[in-house]
Amino acid sequence: MTDFSYPGAVGGTLHVVATPIGNLGDFSPRARAILASSDLIAAEDTRHSGQLLAHFGIQGRLLALHEHNEAQQSPVLLHHLQEGRSVALVSDAGTPGVSDPGGRLVALAHAHAIPVVAIAGPSALAAALSVGGLDALPIQFHGFLPAKSKARRAALTTLTGLVGTHVFYEAPHRIVEMVTDLAALFPPDRELVLARELTKRFESVQRMRLDAAPSWLAADADRQRGEFVVLLSGAPAAAAVDALAEGQRVYQVLESLLSASEAARAAARITGASRSALYAWALGRRDGHGEGTD
Ligand code: SAM
Repeated sequence: MTDFSYPGAVGGTLHVVATPIGNLGDFSPRARAILASSDLIAAEDTRHSGQLLAHFGIQGRLLALHEHNEAQQSPVLLHHLQEGRSVALVSDAGTPGVSDPGGRLVALAHAHAIPVVAIAGPSALAAALSVGGLDALPIQFHGFLPAKSKARRAALTTLTGLVGTHVFYEAPHRIVEMVTDLAALFPPDRELVLARELTKRFESVQRMRLDAAPSWLAADADRQRGEFVVLLSGAPAAAAVDALAEGQRVYQVLESLLSASEAARAAARITGASRSALYAWALGRRDGHGEGTD
């Protein structure tokens, strides 16, 4: 019998359990105790999680919960929870629900007053932020950008005026294209951090000016291998204020030609202002509460 001397899973509760992003030493005793005592373990990939559990001598009843079956499987798991069974949710690595499946099940549990408990632990997002040294708020977490270049560039264009710290996840086969797009669209003096293979054997954290990054990556194919979190410093606060003022000016030119949301989107694309900030401003203005800049 497994005894990790930590309280086990509670019936009728959904435990959202973080698992290692590389180093198995990061698998917390509490996470292991919860998994060992859960009635059911919902896993993104049952084979992958089965290997992790086997490594730690944990037996569990695994059920698949991934992006393609989350809609059908979540009500099934809800039923188990309502019957008083304990359910643990894991993804392949890191924290479920952070660019991983799980959000739908968690939302359903909340909607039915099922307790949801975080078994906190590794996440590539927090790990990269902790070693990147870019601490400006807000943290703008974007997960994965679109895979196709045109859509990726369009998405990035909407971010250039935002303050804070941008965080992206990226796959190794797209890291060069992605960093090239960043360098083409953002000012050259932005700070970039490439956090690669965190907690693993070939872990590396490199911080540099954005304009230096494409050639740094190109200089050695090994620098392009593995899993990446990319951090990018946001716009200086003063520049963001300027961009918003400019966005408001352009919006006012466009508003008679387009709907409010289209005009906000176009003005944001043209000026680098935040689309959501512009849209909120436009709605307030329409309702008579806006603070025009003119
Ligand atoms: N939910 C996970 C978490 O909390 O870390 C992230 C899942 S997402 C599908 C996988 C992405 O996270 C990878 O493509 C990579 O961008 C990032 N990632 C995961 N493990 C990493 C590691 N050890 N080092 C750097 N990035 C990692």
